[in-house]
Amino acid sequence: MNKKNTNKKLKDFKPETTENEIQSHTVFAGLCKGCRICQEVCPQKCIGINPTVRGVYNNKIVQCDISKCTACQICQRRCPEGAIRVEKKKIK
Ligand code: SF4
Ligand code: SF4
Repeated sequence: MNKKNTNKKLKDFKPETTENEIQSHTVFAGLCKGCRICQEVCPQKCIGINPTVRGVYNNKIVQCDISKCTACQICQRRCPEGAIRVEKKKIK
């Protein structure tokens, strides 16, 4: 583990959310281990690497290109760490 994050706790990591008027996609940086399973299973290939935010092991975390996301929630279901939440917004 990189020493930079050794003393960090879950609460020190803020959720990273991308959203539009239809849905939101949140990655919890304090849970994401950077395994990239979500990237592999996403049918839209819209999960990439967040260029700025690091995870709990100082690993690179993922982020969603919300413009391509269909909110299918496959990434949420397959993430072994429970680090993703996908929400559909209510259309008024
Ligand atoms: S599957 Fe979960 S832990 Fe793995 S990279 Fe994706 S969000 Fe992070
Ligand atoms: S919700 Fe579906 S389309 Fe959106 S990032 Fe996750 S797997 Fe990809």
